[in-house]
Parts: sequence; C-alpha cells; structure tokens
Amino acid sequence: MAYEVPPLSYDYAALEPHIDEATMKVHHDKHHQAYVDKANAALEGTDLADAAIEDVIADLSKVPEAKRGAVRNNGGGHLNHSLFWESMSPDGGGAPDGDLAAAIDAAFGSFEDFKTKVKETGGGQFGSGWAWLVKDGSGLAVVGTPNQDNPISDGKTPLLGIDVWEHAYYLKYQNKRPDYIDAWWNVVDWSKVSERFAA
Ligand code: MN
Repeated sequence: MAYEVPPLSYDYAALEPHIDEATMKVHHDKHHQAYVDKANAALEGTDLADAAIEDVIADLSKVPEAKRGAVRNNGGGHLNHSLFWESMSPDGGGAPDGDLAAAIDAAFGSFEDFKTKVKETGGGQFGSGWAWLVKDGSGLAVVGTPNQDNPISDGKTPLLGIDVWEHAYYLKYQNKRPDYIDAWWNVVDWSKVSERFAA
C-alpha cells in the first residue's frame, strides 16, 4: 500500500508562537507530501512496495540499487516527518519524568546538559539534517544526521528528532537556527518520547 502523509493530531496554528502556522502548513502539506510521493514512485513495483517505512529505512541494502538513493532521501523524509509531527503537542514542553528522565541524567549529566548537546548537534549540522535523541544499546545518545537520514539505518532507535532543515524554521526564525531549537522544547511531547523509550 502506498504511503500517505499522516494527519496532524492538532491544528496548524496550535504550536504558535513557537512553531508558526504558515510553516506548519507548508511543511506538513507540501514538503512531507513531496517525500511521500517520491518514495511511493521509487518503491512502486518493487518487493518493498508494501513494507513498513521503518523496515525499509532500517535496511536500505534490501532496496534495489537504482532506487536506493531516492528511497533513502524520500522514504527517510517520510519516516522522519511522521516521527516529527507526533513528537510535538500544543500541551508539550516542560521536562521528561520517570525512567526517561533518569536515563537522560545518566547519559548526559542533567536535562540542561542534554539540551545543550542537542543544540550543539542541531546548530552544528552543516546544511540540512536532524538532531536526534536515540536509544543506542542500553543507553541514550544524541546524534546528528545529514539530509533525511534516520538513525534507524545505523541500528539506533530514534526517540525524538528535531528537523533543522531551513524549511522547518526559516519563515519565523530566518537564520537563527539556535533560537528555533530553544523554542522547540516548548512543544516537545515528552509523553510520546517516553512511550518510544519504553517500547
Ligand atoms: Mn522537514
């Protein structure tokens, strides 16, 4: 079955003032749709046309070589954005609690140190990409990926990802990517991240 852009569980304007309505509309309806359309076109007629996107991106070696670049970029774009919309909520923000909070403290020293690491990783990503909190073996790590690569391709489980492509923030934040990353913490849905951590 062809992939589809999942609907948002909140309004385009619900993440204001941190993430603006105009950005959400073009990001969700245009950018994500383009990744979906191109991923579907690349996978059509292959053995993977009915595979879950996580499974495709987790093992790109199974994708026919002629299609691999298109699937890595556009299938990755579909997976990354599907995770991204779910990781935000109008009721988000604050700090994680429970086992996730303890694991963040164990890995990074403190929640503040964790956020600093994400900001360095996302702010330092040259060009387009993502900053991720991942489950890596038994612990947590922060990693960056270029383009639409997803840590799942490296055997890591993404718990949250911040899109640091200019299309994610430029209308509101222009060149100030670090300000966008700071603002993003006001919309992060820690309950969703905790759910992924516990899975
Ligand atoms: Mn994006």
